[in-house]
Amino acid sequence: MHELSVTQSILEIALAHAKEAGAGRIVKVNLVIGELSGLVGEFIQFYFDFVSKGTLAEGAELTFRHVPARFRCLDCGAEYEPDGADWACPICGALRPVAMGGRELLVESIEVE
Ligand SMILES: [Zn+2]
Repeated sequence: MHELSVTQSILEIALAHAKEAGAGRIVKVNLVIGELSGLVGEFIQFYFDFVSKGTLAEGAELTFRHVPARFRCLDCGAEYEPDGADWACPICGALRPVAMGGRELLVESIEVE
């Protein structure tokens, strides 16, 4: 149920923005989703449709901009984007990555009426 709690915070953020802007309705919520977040866009939309019922965001469409994973190698310090499921360092071949980015889920912007 990870997606459900995440979706509730997305809704809260979107509603707060809409209130600030004096909007009547939220039509679109643009999100940034990290490749390593483990979150699936279609599940988030599914939960969003559910939790947004009766709010300004009811019926809003979610869009997702995917950002790739980014690793730093613990052995040689190189920073790299993993090539699919191959997480080994392209410089020294070690498999000791630390995630530098790619876990995020952010509300980038909202579109209102
Ligand atoms: Zn390395």
